[in-house]
Amino acid sequence: MGCCDAPGLMPIEDALDKMLTPIKPIQSTLSLPLAEALGFVLAEDVLSPIFVPPFDNSAMDGYALRLADLENSKTLPLAGKSFAGQPFEGEWPVNTCIRIMTGAKIPHGCDAVIMQENTAVTDAGIEIQQESISLNNNIRATGNDIAQGDIVLQKGARLTPRDIPMIASLGISHVSVVRKPKVAFFSTGDELKKLGETLEDGQIYDSNRYGIKPLIEAFGCEAIDLGIIPDCPATLKETFNQAQQLADVVVTSGGVSVGEADYTKDILEELGQIGFWKLAIKPGKPFAFGQLDDAWFCGLPGNPVSAVLTMYVLVQPMLAKLAGHSEWKAPESIPAITQSAFKKGPGRTDYQRGIYRIENGQFVVETTGNQSSGAFRSMSLANCFVVIEKERGNVAVGETVQIQLFNSTLY
Ligand code: AMP
Ligand code: MG
Repeated sequence: MGCCDAPGLMPIEDALDKMLTPIKPIQSTLSLPLAEALGFVLAEDVLSPIFVPPFDNSAMDGYALRLADLENSKTLPLAGKSFAGQPFEGEWPVNTCIRIMTGAKIPHGCDAVIMQENTAVTDAGIEIQQESISLNNNIRATGNDIAQGDIVLQKGARLTPRDIPMIASLGISHVSVVRKPKVAFFSTGDELKKLGETLEDGQIYDSNRYGIKPLIEAFGCEAIDLGIIPDCPATLKETFNQAQQLADVVVTSGGVSVGEADYTKDILEELGQIGFWKLAIKPGKPFAFGQLDDAWFCGLPGNPVSAVLTMYVLVQPMLAKLAGHSEWKAPESIPAITQSAFKKGPGRTDYQRGIYRIENGQFVVETTGNQSSGAFRSMSLANCFVVIEKERGNVAVGETVQIQLFNSTLY
């Protein structure tokens, strides 16, 4: 991949295509205890070794009976009890019932459980007060949740807090997962100061690393923070070399536009095959992508909103592919009526920051205010992107716009 010197701006779809096509999922896998597997991607399908539930059991506290016995009498003497973990094991005479608790094994021959609230205890036995009783009433049948041999999760699924307890219910203690992608990242710029330091004239705090790290980690990757690197060719080169030894992907912020102190471009051209792109999105125009000897490289623009946006719309899909996370989907667009006007020039797709609400079942959206790519408050206030199409101009109040609700990595 050489330097991209094609005139014009590259549509985001083309950029994604160029990034995703060469990426091959990580092949290295490991077996993890289930309790440590949250956020990892499955390296193989999970099949159920058992039926869940493993035996017919009661959905209610009540009385187990045989429906045929009710034809003789509505009152049935008690013959025993079945509690969770302590099944009824004795003889069960005809015309009697068995006390049963939720989750307890259904006694042999029982074809209905009557909930306690629909019975009365009398001297003659348990009076069944429910009028019509269907066959298998309140009986949870063996395997009605999961059958033995079912594929409950497929290779490529990322394990959520909803999946882990389901796997536990199958008695599976370890799962085979893909090693997490490692992402080394650093900020570039002579003007950047660490938190806790005092700002001299012309300096600002490095906020980008604080935006990039959570977007790596929330996406199930390992983040390796290499700090702030000044605009110094020797230090930059050394850091790139260190980063590519440590990680599968190197992410930088700043230094990929055409500023005079932006040496990154020269160094990268020396170290690997990198394309410097001008993307048809706003914010986030300058972006670099390519391959170093030992790692992929993503160069984010320095402006804080641009850095987070390009991380979200370009780098995350790439990390998903690398992680083998085949179920990952890009955020979907939803039509919303805008309650604010949006300034927009044709030529680039805008990702303006918005706040959506649902009013009378309809999505409505308003702007977060200042939409400068350096004004990060617009991200902090937002709960969605207002994605305004490339060729569209200014948007007036009352028009329909497409919004993309933030995925969980921005929450
Ligand atoms: P650059 O892409 O290096 O030309 O930077 C573009 C703008 O983003 C400049 O105003 C930088 O000062 C600012 N910037 C670059 N890196 C950071 C960072 N890590 N945190 C906050 N602002 C940054
Ligand atoms: Mg810079």
